[in-house]
Amino acid sequence: MLYGLVLTAFAATILVTAPRVLSRAERSGFSPRHVQRAWRAAAGGVLASLALAIPVYTPDLWIAPMKAAGFDPGIGMPAVPIAAQATVVVLALLILAVGWRRGAPAMRDYRRALRVQLDRLENSAPLLDEEDPGHPRLVIVEDEAPRLVLLPSRPPRVEATTRALDLLRPEELNAVLTHMAGHLRRRDAQWMVFADTLADAYPAVRFFGRWADHAAELSEKVADADVHGAIARANLRRAIVKLSGPGQATGPFCPCFAWPQQRQEELTVHRVQATAHPEVAVAGVRVGAPVASAGLRVLTAAALLVPSVVVLSPHFMYL
Ligand SMILES: [Zn+2]
Repeated sequence: MLYGLVLTAFAATILVTAPRVLSRAERSGFSPRHVQRAWRAAAGGVLASLALAIPVYTPDLWIAPMKAAGFDPGIGMPAVPIAAQATVVVLALLILAVGWRRGAPAMRDYRRALRVQLDRLENSAPLLDEEDPGHPRLVIVEDEAPRLVLLPSRPPRVEATTRALDLLRPEELNAVLTHMAGHLRRRDAQWMVFADTLADAYPAVRFFGRWADHAAELSEKVADADVHGAIARANLRRAIVKLSGPGQATGPFCPCFAWPQQRQEELTVHRVQATAHPEVAVAGVRVGAPVASAGLRVLTAAALLVPSVVVLSPHFMYL
């Protein structure tokens, strides 16, 4: 019971404090990569804590069937009345069912959009489709629209239209591909859909809404920070200018040429810093306010540690 309360209180604390801590960290110019990691850790910590709290609140419901099946978990009898345990389970199932009804369309739309794009690629007679299993494929499509899209399929594909290739110099394309490889490494598209799903599923929880609002722009900034060096960053800047605007495929994928203005500035700021503080700019980290920085670290660590510590605690299932 105690652990259940600890976990629930912890989840509630993160839900309330995280958006504030993370907004502050973002405003103070803290590395977008750390902010992104903190959002993900906070969301994971909340979901893990709540999922772990359920069996703590409802031991009778799963201990009896285990004993009947011949296993003896050998844990102390809980002090939670059986009616309360049943209520917890019913409530949890209800919340899940309502969330699923509201959130599932976001996931369905994502899968449908991905299928539509892949079908379009198959039908548009690719000029080049690298047959290297497990590696991203660059698919070149003859088209007058300047489209360059990362499709997070398996294997991932980058669709480049002939018009986009006409516009970009090879080194600019290279910078964009480095940026896109970062999206794939961090599974940005999947995380974005996850955040959207949670935001749709539980609109009353501000945390999820804020996360979903931020996720896309943040993942673009993080991927921009993967492009190192003044020259490569200038190439990425030029590529964004050339390809932002109409013509890009729409869908719940990484919007690699969106927010051109802000990202131009970010990419330029990093370049200026590279001359002033090379050691800072190389890691893509900008010095933030100490309070925001400490808050961010504490939040990330707590979100990951608290559920793990509770699970590993020898008394986890007692009381
Ligand atoms: Zn991108």
